[in-house]
Amino acid sequence: MTPTIRIGIFLVLTAAALSAQPSYVSTLHGQRVPRLLIRGAMVVEGVGTPAAGPRDVLIEGSRIAQVGRMSDVAGIDAVIDGTGKYVLPDFVNMHGHLQHERAGVAMDPLDVTKLWLACGITTVRDVGSGLSKLKVDGPARRLHIFPFFTGPRTPEEARAKVRDLKAAGVDGIKFLGVYRDVFDAAAAEMKNTALGRAHHIGVEETNVWDDIRNAPAKPWRYTVEQWYGIPDASLRDGVQKFPASYNYANEVDRFRYAGRLWRETDPAKLTKVLAAMADAKIAWDPTLNIYGASRDVSRAQNQPWFKEYLHPALAKFFEPSLESHGSYFFNWSTEDEIYWKGNYRFWMAAVCECARLGGLVTTGEDAGYIYQMHGVGPLRELELHQEAVFHPLEVVKHATHHGAIALGREQEIGRVRAGWLADLIVVNGNPLANFQILYPAGNDAGKLEWTIKDGIAYHSSTLLSDVKKIVSEARKNETLKSTAQTRR
Ligand SMILES: [Zn+2]
Repeated sequence: MTPTIRIGIFLVLTAAALSAQPSYVSTLHGQRVPRLLIRGAMVVEGVGTPAAGPRDVLIEGSRIAQVGRMSDVAGIDAVIDGTGKYVLPDFVNMHGHLQHERAGVAMDPLDVTKLWLACGITTVRDVGSGLSKLKVDGPARRLHIFPFFTGPRTPEEARAKVRDLKAAGVDGIKFLGVYRDVFDAAAAEMKNTALGRAHHIGVEETNVWDDIRNAPAKPWRYTVEQWYGIPDASLRDGVQKFPASYNYANEVDRFRYAGRLWRETDPAKLTKVLAAMADAKIAWDPTLNIYGASRDVSRAQNQPWFKEYLHPALAKFFEPSLESHGSYFFNWSTEDEIYWKGNYRFWMAAVCECARLGGLVTTGEDAGYIYQMHGVGPLRELELHQEAVFHPLEVVKHATHHGAIALGREQEIGRVRAGWLADLIVVNGNPLANFQILYPAGNDAGKLEWTIKDGIAYHSSTLLSDVKKIVSEARKNETLKSTAQTRR
Protein backbone atom coordinates (compact mmCIF):
# COMPACT_ATOMS: atom_id res chain seq x y z
CA MET A 1 0.00 0.00 0.00
CA THR A 2 1.48 3.31 -1.06
CA PRO A 3 0.31 6.32 0.87
CA THR A 4 -0.31 9.69 -0.67
CA ILE A 5 2.35 11.73 0.99
CA ARG A 6 2.99 15.41 0.48
CA ILE A 7 5.30 16.15 3.37
CA GLY A 8 8.87 15.94 2.04
CA ILE A 9 9.59 12.31 2.78
CA PHE A 10 10.36 10.96 -0.66
CA LEU A 11 14.00 10.53 0.30
CA VAL A 12 12.95 8.38 3.21
CA LEU A 13 10.73 6.39 0.88
CA THR A 14 13.70 5.56 -1.35
CA ALA A 15 15.73 4.38 1.61
CA ALA A 16 12.79 2.47 3.03
CA ALA A 17 12.20 0.70 -0.27
CA LEU A 18 15.40 -1.19 0.41
CA SER A 19 14.12 -2.58 3.70
CA ALA A 20 11.55 -5.35 4.08
CA GLN A 21 8.88 -3.14 5.69
CA PRO A 22 6.38 -1.25 3.56
CA SER A 23 7.63 2.31 3.07
CA TYR A 24 4.80 3.98 4.95
CA VAL A 25 5.82 2.18 8.15
CA SER A 26 9.18 3.93 8.42
CA THR A 27 7.73 7.28 7.46
CA LEU A 28 4.69 7.12 9.68
CA HIS A 29 5.89 5.28 12.80
CA GLY A 30 6.13 7.71 15.71
CA GLN A 31 4.80 10.59 13.59
CA ARG A 32 1.75 12.77 13.66
CA VAL A 33 0.93 14.02 10.16
CA PRO A 34 -1.54 16.90 9.73
CA ARG A 35 -4.16 14.69 8.02
CA LEU A 36 -4.08 10.90 8.31
CA LEU A 37 -6.72 8.76 6.62
CA ILE A 38 -7.63 5.20 7.48
CA ARG A 39 -9.49 4.13 4.37
CA GLY A 40 -12.21 1.52 4.09
CA ALA A 41 -12.06 -0.22 7.47
CA MET A 42 -14.68 -1.86 9.67
CA VAL A 43 -15.25 0.39 12.69
CA VAL A 44 -16.15 -0.72 16.21
CA GLU A 45 -17.09 2.48 18.03
CA GLY A 46 -16.56 1.21 21.56
CA VAL A 47 -20.00 1.79 23.06
CA GLY A 48 -21.37 -1.67 22.36
CA THR A 49 -22.90 -0.90 18.96
CA PRO A 50 -22.08 -3.36 16.16
CA ALA A 51 -19.16 -3.12 13.74
CA ALA A 52 -19.94 -1.15 10.59
CA GLY A 53 -18.06 -0.49 7.37
CA PRO A 54 -16.28 -0.02 5.18
CA ARG A 55 -15.74 3.43 6.66
CA ASP A 56 -13.04 6.04 6.40
CA VAL A 57 -11.59 7.56 9.54
CA LEU A 58 -10.03 10.96 9.02
CA ILE A 59 -7.62 12.14 11.68
CA GLU A 60 -6.59 15.79 11.80
CA GLY A 61 -3.75 16.44 14.20
CA SER A 62 -4.57 14.76 17.48
CA ARG A 63 -8.33 14.38 16.90
CA ILE A 64 -10.74 12.31 14.87
CA ALA A 65 -12.23 14.71 12.32
CA GLN A 66 -14.67 12.45 10.51
CA VAL A 67 -15.94 8.88 10.48
CA GLY A 68 -17.91 7.78 7.41
CA ARG A 69 -17.57 7.36 3.67
CA MET A 70 -15.57 10.20 2.14
CA SER A 71 -15.64 10.85 -1.58
CA ASP A 72 -13.21 13.75 -1.65
CA VAL A 73 -10.08 13.11 0.31
CA ALA A 74 -7.74 15.61 -1.26
CA GLY A 75 -4.92 17.00 0.83
CA ILE A 76 -4.22 13.85 2.80
CA ASP A 77 -0.70 13.42 4.17
CA ALA A 78 -0.73 9.68 4.76
CA VAL A 79 -3.13 6.79 4.23
CA ILE A 80 -3.47 3.51 6.05
CA ASP A 81 -5.31 0.99 3.89
CA GLY A 82 -8.12 -0.39 6.03
CA THR A 83 -9.25 -3.13 3.65
CA GLY A 84 -10.07 -6.24 5.68
CA LYS A 85 -9.09 -4.41 8.86
CA TYR A 86 -10.89 -3.33 12.03
CA VAL A 87 -10.55 -0.02 13.81
CA LEU A 88 -11.30 0.11 17.56
CA PRO A 89 -10.63 2.66 20.30
CA ASP A 90 -7.42 2.13 22.26
CA PHE A 91 -7.73 0.14 25.47
CA VAL A 92 -7.78 1.70 28.92
CA ASN A 93 -5.75 -0.27 31.46
CA MET A 94 -7.40 0.54 34.78
CA HIS A 95 -4.86 -1.32 36.90
CA GLY A 96 -1.28 -0.87 35.70
CA HIS A 97 2.08 -0.77 37.43
CA LEU A 98 4.84 1.10 35.60
CA GLN A 99 7.79 -0.68 37.17
CA HIS A 100 11.44 0.35 37.30
CA GLU A 101 12.70 -2.84 38.93
CA ARG A 102 11.62 -6.32 39.99
CA ALA A 103 13.38 -8.62 42.46
CA GLY A 104 16.30 -6.19 42.61
CA VAL A 105 16.84 -6.18 38.81
CA ALA A 106 16.42 -2.80 37.09
CA MET A 107 13.87 -2.39 34.31
CA ASP A 108 13.73 0.29 31.65
CA PRO A 109 10.24 1.84 31.98
CA LEU A 110 10.33 2.22 28.20
CA ASP A 111 10.12 -1.56 28.00
CA VAL A 112 6.77 -1.38 29.79
CA THR A 113 5.35 1.63 27.96
CA LYS A 114 6.34 0.25 24.54
CA LEU A 115 4.71 -3.08 25.37
CA TRP A 116 1.54 -1.29 26.42
CA LEU A 117 1.52 0.71 23.19
CA ALA A 118 2.28 -2.34 21.04
CA CYS A 119 -0.73 -4.06 22.62
CA GLY A 120 -3.07 -1.12 21.97
CA ILE A 121 -2.99 0.42 25.44
CA THR A 122 -2.48 4.17 25.68
CA THR A 123 -4.21 5.14 28.90
CA VAL A 124 -3.09 3.57 32.14
CA ARG A 125 -4.26 4.11 35.68
CA ASP A 126 -1.07 3.49 37.63
CA VAL A 127 -2.21 2.29 41.03
CA GLY A 128 0.20 2.34 43.95
CA SER A 129 2.43 4.87 42.20
CA GLY A 130 5.35 6.62 43.73
CA LEU A 131 5.04 10.40 43.40
CA SER A 132 8.15 10.38 41.20
CA LYS A 133 5.95 8.95 38.44
CA LEU A 134 4.27 12.35 38.13
CA LYS A 135 7.45 13.26 36.24
CA VAL A 136 7.69 10.12 34.07
CA ASP A 137 7.73 10.79 30.36
CA GLY A 138 7.66 8.50 27.38
CA PRO A 139 5.69 7.51 24.32
CA ALA A 140 2.66 6.27 26.25
CA ARG A 141 2.66 8.99 28.86
CA ARG A 142 -0.98 9.08 29.75
CA LEU A 143 -0.67 7.77 33.25
CA HIS A 144 -3.29 8.47 35.85
CA ILE A 145 -1.34 8.54 39.07
CA PHE A 146 -2.95 6.87 42.10
CA PRO A 147 -0.40 6.55 44.93
CA PHE A 148 -0.94 4.27 47.93
CA PHE A 149 -2.56 5.79 50.98
CA THR A 150 0.21 4.75 53.34
CA GLY A 151 0.91 6.25 56.73
CA PRO A 152 -2.27 7.60 58.35
CA ARG A 153 -3.34 5.84 61.55
CA THR A 154 -6.00 8.33 62.66
CA PRO A 155 -8.85 10.26 60.98
CA GLU A 156 -6.91 13.55 61.43
CA GLU A 157 -3.84 12.09 59.71
CA ALA A 158 -6.09 10.71 56.96
CA ARG A 159 -7.52 14.15 56.17
CA ALA A 160 -4.06 15.72 56.12
CA LYS A 161 -2.75 12.97 53.84
CA VAL A 162 -5.55 13.52 51.30
CA ARG A 163 -4.76 17.27 51.26
CA ASP A 164 -1.02 16.53 50.76
CA LEU A 165 -1.61 14.12 47.90
CA LYS A 166 -4.02 16.52 46.25
CA ALA A 167 -1.47 19.32 46.52
CA ALA A 168 1.15 17.04 44.96
CA GLY A 169 -1.06 16.80 41.87
CA VAL A 170 -2.15 13.16 41.92
CA ASP A 171 -5.19 11.97 39.97
CA GLY A 172 -6.51 9.68 42.66
CA ILE A 173 -5.64 7.47 45.63
CA LYS A 174 -5.30 3.73 46.05
CA PHE A 175 -6.45 2.34 49.39
CA LEU A 176 -5.23 -0.94 50.84
CA GLY A 177 -5.44 -2.15 54.41
CA VAL A 178 -6.81 0.95 56.14
CA TYR A 179 -8.99 1.09 59.24
CA ARG A 180 -12.66 1.95 58.79
CA ASP A 181 -12.48 5.32 60.56
CA VAL A 182 -9.38 6.25 58.56
CA PHE A 183 -11.10 5.27 55.31
CA ASP A 184 -14.24 7.26 56.22
CA ALA A 185 -12.23 10.37 57.10
CA ALA A 186 -10.23 10.16 53.86
CA ALA A 187 -13.44 9.64 51.89
CA ALA A 188 -15.05 12.69 53.52
CA GLU A 189 -11.99 14.81 52.69
CA MET A 190 -12.05 13.55 49.06
CA LYS A 191 -15.74 14.25 48.64
CA ASN A 192 -15.41 17.72 47.13
CA THR A 193 -12.35 17.02 45.04
CA ALA A 194 -11.92 15.51 41.58
CA LEU A 195 -9.72 12.74 43.00
CA GLY A 196 -10.48 9.17 41.91
CA ARG A 197 -10.35 6.19 44.25
CA ALA A 198 -9.16 2.61 43.73
CA HIS A 199 -9.80 0.21 46.59
CA HIS A 200 -7.99 -3.09 47.06
CA ILE A 201 -9.95 -4.15 50.11
CA GLY A 202 -8.18 -7.38 51.13
CA VAL A 203 -9.40 -9.35 54.14
CA GLU A 204 -9.80 -6.37 56.40
CA GLU A 205 -12.05 -4.47 58.75
CA THR A 206 -13.61 -2.76 55.73
CA ASN A 207 -15.52 -4.38 52.92
CA VAL A 208 -17.40 -3.08 49.89
CA TRP A 209 -20.24 -1.70 52.08
CA ASP A 210 -17.73 0.96 53.19
CA ASP A 211 -17.17 1.90 49.57
CA ILE A 212 -20.92 1.99 49.00
CA ARG A 213 -21.47 4.28 52.03
CA ASN A 214 -18.79 6.57 50.64
CA ALA A 215 -20.14 6.86 47.10
CA PRO A 216 -18.52 9.10 44.47
CA ALA A 217 -19.96 12.55 43.77
CA LYS A 218 -19.37 11.93 40.07
CA PRO A 219 -20.70 8.49 39.00
CA TRP A 220 -18.21 5.61 38.58
CA ARG A 221 -15.08 7.52 39.60
CA TYR A 222 -14.39 5.05 42.43
CA THR A 223 -13.53 1.42 41.75
CA VAL A 224 -13.20 -1.83 43.60
CA GLU A 225 -10.14 -3.78 42.43
CA GLN A 226 -10.02 -7.55 41.83
CA TRP A 227 -12.93 -8.86 43.86
CA TYR A 228 -11.90 -8.12 47.40
CA GLY A 229 -14.52 -6.83 49.76
CA ILE A 230 -17.39 -8.16 47.61
CA PRO A 231 -17.54 -11.88 48.55
CA ASP A 232 -16.33 -10.82 52.00
CA ALA A 233 -19.51 -8.76 52.40
CA SER A 234 -21.64 -11.68 51.20
CA LEU A 235 -20.38 -14.61 53.32
CA ARG A 236 -22.98 -17.11 54.50
CA ASP A 237 -21.48 -17.19 57.99
CA GLY A 238 -20.13 -13.65 58.17
CA VAL A 239 -16.51 -14.85 58.14
CA GLN A 240 -14.53 -17.23 55.95
CA LYS A 241 -13.86 -20.61 57.59
CA PHE A 242 -10.07 -20.59 57.59
CA PRO A 243 -8.32 -23.62 59.14
CA ALA A 244 -6.81 -23.02 62.60
CA SER A 245 -3.30 -23.07 61.13
CA TYR A 246 -4.08 -20.25 58.66
CA ASN A 247 -1.67 -17.32 58.58
CA TYR A 248 -2.71 -14.31 56.46
CA ALA A 249 0.87 -13.07 56.36
CA ASN A 250 1.93 -16.27 54.61
CA GLU A 251 1.13 -15.80 50.92
CA VAL A 252 0.78 -19.51 50.21
CA ASP A 253 -2.00 -19.64 52.83
CA ARG A 254 -3.46 -16.35 51.72
CA PHE A 255 -3.79 -17.25 48.04
CA ARG A 256 -4.67 -20.90 48.62
CA TYR A 257 -7.68 -19.95 50.77
CA ALA A 258 -8.59 -16.97 48.58
CA GLY A 259 -9.38 -19.73 46.07
CA ARG A 260 -11.96 -21.12 48.49
CA LEU A 261 -13.65 -17.83 49.32
CA TRP A 262 -16.39 -17.46 46.72
CA ARG A 263 -18.05 -20.81 47.44
CA GLU A 264 -18.77 -19.58 50.98
CA THR A 265 -20.94 -16.69 49.74
CA ASP A 266 -24.70 -16.50 50.08
CA PRO A 267 -26.33 -15.77 46.67
CA ALA A 268 -29.07 -13.53 48.13
CA LYS A 269 -26.55 -11.49 50.15
CA LEU A 270 -24.31 -11.22 47.10
CA THR A 271 -27.11 -9.93 44.88
CA LYS A 272 -27.90 -7.27 47.51
CA VAL A 273 -24.25 -6.17 47.58
CA LEU A 274 -23.96 -6.03 43.78
CA ALA A 275 -27.20 -4.06 43.44
CA ALA A 276 -26.03 -1.59 46.08
CA MET A 277 -22.71 -1.18 44.23
CA ALA A 278 -24.59 -0.40 41.03
CA ASP A 279 -26.90 2.06 42.84
CA ALA A 280 -23.98 3.84 44.49
CA LYS A 281 -22.19 4.01 41.10
CA ILE A 282 -19.12 2.16 42.38
CA ALA A 283 -17.34 0.62 39.37
CA TRP A 284 -15.80 -2.86 39.38
CA ASP A 285 -12.34 -3.40 37.90
CA PRO A 286 -12.01 -7.18 38.31
CA THR A 287 -8.55 -7.76 36.68
CA LEU A 288 -9.57 -11.38 36.06
CA ASN A 289 -6.26 -12.08 34.31
CA ILE A 290 -4.07 -11.68 37.36
CA TYR A 291 -4.98 -14.91 39.16
CA GLY A 292 -4.99 -17.06 36.03
CA ALA A 293 -1.90 -18.91 37.27
CA SER A 294 -3.83 -20.07 40.32
CA ARG A 295 -6.17 -22.12 38.17
CA ASP A 296 -3.56 -23.27 35.62
CA VAL A 297 0.02 -22.65 36.64
CA SER A 298 1.70 -24.40 33.70
CA ARG A 299 -0.28 -22.32 31.20
CA ALA A 300 0.86 -19.19 32.99
CA GLN A 301 4.51 -20.29 33.04
CA ASN A 302 4.61 -21.11 29.32
CA GLN A 303 3.06 -18.09 27.64
CA PRO A 304 4.37 -17.79 24.06
CA TRP A 305 5.43 -14.12 24.37
CA PHE A 306 7.78 -14.92 27.25
CA LYS A 307 10.36 -16.32 24.82
CA GLU A 308 11.22 -12.96 23.29
CA TYR A 309 9.60 -10.31 25.45
CA LEU A 310 9.82 -11.36 29.09
CA HIS A 311 12.24 -9.05 30.87
CA PRO A 312 14.72 -10.93 33.13
CA ALA A 313 13.62 -8.77 36.07
CA LEU A 314 10.09 -10.19 35.72
CA ALA A 315 11.39 -13.72 35.11
CA LYS A 316 13.29 -13.50 38.39
CA PHE A 317 10.35 -11.99 40.27
CA PHE A 318 7.99 -14.74 39.06
CA GLU A 319 10.14 -17.55 40.52
CA PRO A 320 8.45 -19.04 43.62
CA SER A 321 9.50 -16.88 46.57
CA LEU A 322 8.03 -15.72 49.84
CA GLU A 323 9.73 -12.36 49.24
CA SER A 324 8.19 -11.50 45.87
CA HIS A 325 4.51 -10.59 46.21
CA GLY A 326 2.29 -13.08 44.37
CA SER A 327 4.98 -15.71 43.74
CA TYR A 328 3.26 -18.28 45.95
CA PHE A 329 3.57 -21.39 43.83
CA PHE A 330 5.10 -23.81 46.34
CA ASN A 331 3.53 -27.28 46.08
CA TRP A 332 0.63 -25.79 44.15
CA SER A 333 -1.61 -28.82 43.65
CA THR A 334 -4.39 -30.18 41.47
CA GLU A 335 -6.72 -29.50 44.39
CA ASP A 336 -5.64 -25.85 44.55
CA GLU A 337 -6.18 -25.41 40.81
CA ILE A 338 -9.61 -27.02 40.98
CA TYR A 339 -10.69 -24.82 43.87
CA TRP A 340 -9.50 -21.82 41.89
CA LYS A 341 -11.36 -22.94 38.76
CA GLY A 342 -14.53 -23.05 40.84
CA ASN A 343 -13.66 -19.69 42.37
CA TYR A 344 -13.42 -18.18 38.90
CA ARG A 345 -16.88 -19.49 37.98
CA PHE A 346 -18.43 -17.68 40.98
CA TRP A 347 -16.31 -14.58 40.41
CA MET A 348 -17.19 -14.32 36.70
CA ALA A 349 -20.88 -14.91 37.40
CA ALA A 350 -20.81 -12.09 39.98
CA VAL A 351 -19.17 -9.69 37.50
CA CYS A 352 -21.95 -10.51 35.01
CA GLU A 353 -24.64 -10.10 37.65
CA CYS A 354 -23.20 -6.73 38.67
CA ALA A 355 -23.35 -5.55 35.04
CA ARG A 356 -26.91 -6.89 34.67
CA LEU A 357 -27.93 -4.91 37.77
CA GLY A 358 -26.60 -1.72 36.18
CA GLY A 359 -22.99 -1.76 37.42
CA LEU A 360 -20.00 -0.52 35.44
CA VAL A 361 -17.26 -3.06 34.63
CA THR A 362 -13.78 -2.05 33.45
CA THR A 363 -10.58 -3.86 32.43
CA GLY A 364 -7.21 -3.80 34.16
CA GLU A 365 -4.09 -5.94 34.10
CA ASP A 366 -2.02 -5.81 37.36
CA ALA A 367 1.03 -7.06 35.42
CA GLY A 368 4.44 -7.36 36.98
CA TYR A 369 3.05 -10.00 39.34
CA ILE A 370 2.00 -13.66 39.11
CA TYR A 371 3.32 -14.49 35.60
CA GLN A 372 1.53 -11.56 34.05
CA MET A 373 3.48 -9.52 31.52
CA HIS A 374 2.69 -5.88 30.78
CA GLY A 375 0.61 -5.32 27.63
CA VAL A 376 -0.69 -8.86 27.24
CA GLY A 377 -2.48 -8.70 30.61
CA PRO A 378 -5.28 -6.43 29.30
CA LEU A 379 -5.56 -8.58 26.16
CA ARG A 380 -5.99 -11.70 28.27
CA GLU A 381 -8.53 -9.70 30.27
CA LEU A 382 -10.64 -9.35 27.10
CA GLU A 383 -10.70 -13.13 26.67
CA LEU A 384 -11.69 -13.64 30.29
CA HIS A 385 -14.52 -11.11 30.13
CA GLN A 386 -15.77 -13.10 27.14
CA GLU A 387 -15.39 -16.30 29.15
CA ALA A 388 -17.52 -14.65 31.84
CA VAL A 389 -20.18 -14.64 29.07
CA PHE A 390 -20.05 -11.01 28.00
CA HIS A 391 -20.52 -10.52 24.25
CA PRO A 392 -17.28 -9.39 22.51
CA LEU A 393 -18.83 -5.98 21.75
CA GLU A 394 -19.62 -5.60 25.44
CA VAL A 395 -16.06 -6.70 26.27
CA VAL A 396 -14.63 -4.00 23.99
CA LYS A 397 -16.90 -1.48 25.71
CA HIS A 398 -15.51 -2.50 29.12
CA ALA A 399 -11.98 -1.92 27.81
CA THR A 400 -12.66 1.40 26.10
CA HIS A 401 -15.75 3.51 26.88
CA HIS A 402 -16.14 2.20 30.44
CA GLY A 403 -12.48 2.89 31.25
CA ALA A 404 -12.95 6.41 29.92
CA ILE A 405 -16.03 6.92 32.13
CA ALA A 406 -14.22 5.65 35.23
CA LEU A 407 -11.44 8.17 34.56
CA GLY A 408 -13.90 11.00 33.88
CA ARG A 409 -12.68 11.29 30.28
CA GLU A 410 -15.64 9.90 28.34
CA GLN A 411 -15.87 13.07 26.26
CA GLU A 412 -12.27 12.61 25.08
CA ILE A 413 -11.25 8.97 24.74
CA GLY A 414 -12.70 5.46 24.39
CA ARG A 415 -14.77 5.96 21.23
CA VAL A 416 -14.22 6.12 17.49
CA ARG A 417 -16.18 9.31 17.07
CA ALA A 418 -15.54 12.70 15.45
CA GLY A 419 -14.21 15.17 18.00
CA TRP A 420 -12.70 12.50 20.26
CA LEU A 421 -8.92 12.13 20.56
CA ALA A 422 -7.42 10.00 17.79
CA ASP A 423 -6.71 7.01 20.03
CA LEU A 424 -7.28 3.99 17.82
CA ILE A 425 -5.95 0.61 16.96
CA VAL A 426 -5.89 -0.80 13.44
CA VAL A 427 -6.12 -4.59 13.38
CA ASN A 428 -5.55 -6.72 10.30
CA GLY A 429 -8.44 -9.08 11.02
CA ASN A 430 -11.52 -9.19 13.21
CA PRO A 431 -10.78 -9.17 16.94
CA LEU A 432 -14.49 -9.69 17.72
CA ALA A 433 -14.12 -13.17 16.20
CA ASN A 434 -10.85 -13.87 17.99
CA PHE A 435 -9.19 -11.63 20.59
CA GLN A 436 -6.03 -13.75 20.32
CA ILE A 437 -5.04 -12.00 17.08
CA LEU A 438 -4.11 -8.99 19.24
CA TYR A 439 -1.36 -10.87 21.11
CA PRO A 440 2.29 -10.21 20.20
CA ALA A 441 3.03 -13.95 19.83
CA GLY A 442 1.26 -17.31 19.67
CA ASN A 443 -0.74 -19.18 17.04
CA ASP A 444 -3.12 -16.49 15.83
CA ALA A 445 -1.18 -13.46 16.99
CA GLY A 446 0.42 -10.42 15.47
CA LYS A 447 -2.42 -8.76 13.61
CA LEU A 448 -2.43 -5.55 15.64
CA GLU A 449 -0.75 -3.21 13.15
CA TRP A 450 -1.06 0.29 14.52
CA THR A 451 -1.75 1.95 17.83
CA ILE A 452 -2.58 5.58 17.27
CA LYS A 453 -2.38 7.87 20.29
CA ASP A 454 -3.25 11.57 20.08
CA GLY A 455 -2.95 11.17 16.30
CA ILE A 456 0.60 9.79 16.54
CA ALA A 457 0.80 6.45 14.72
CA TYR A 458 2.89 3.73 16.33
CA HIS A 459 3.64 0.61 14.31
CA SER A 460 3.15 -2.28 16.69
CA SER A 461 5.74 -4.72 15.37
CA THR A 462 8.35 -1.93 15.22
CA LEU A 463 7.71 -1.26 18.92
CA LEU A 464 7.97 -4.99 19.63
CA SER A 465 11.38 -5.14 17.90
CA ASP A 466 12.50 -2.34 20.25
CA VAL A 467 11.25 -4.33 23.25
CA LYS A 468 13.01 -7.45 21.99
CA LYS A 469 16.27 -5.48 21.89
CA ILE A 470 15.79 -4.06 25.41
CA VAL A 471 15.03 -7.55 26.74
CA SER A 472 17.90 -9.33 25.01
CA GLU A 473 20.32 -6.64 26.23
CA ALA A 474 19.00 -6.98 29.80
CA ARG A 475 19.29 -10.78 29.61
CA LYS A 476 22.93 -10.47 28.51
CA ASN A 477 23.66 -8.18 31.47
CA GLU A 478 21.97 -10.59 33.88
CA THR A 479 24.02 -13.52 32.53
CA LEU A 480 27.21 -11.50 32.92
CA LYS A 481 26.25 -10.56 36.47
CA SER A 482 25.49 -14.14 37.51
CA THR A 483 28.71 -15.44 35.86
CA ALA A 484 30.70 -12.86 37.81
CA GLN A 485 28.93 -13.93 41.02
CA THR A 486 29.70 -17.61 40.38
CA ARG A 487 33.42 -16.82 39.93
CA ARG A 488 33.58 -14.90 43.19
ZN1 LIG B 1 -1.87 -4.11 41.55
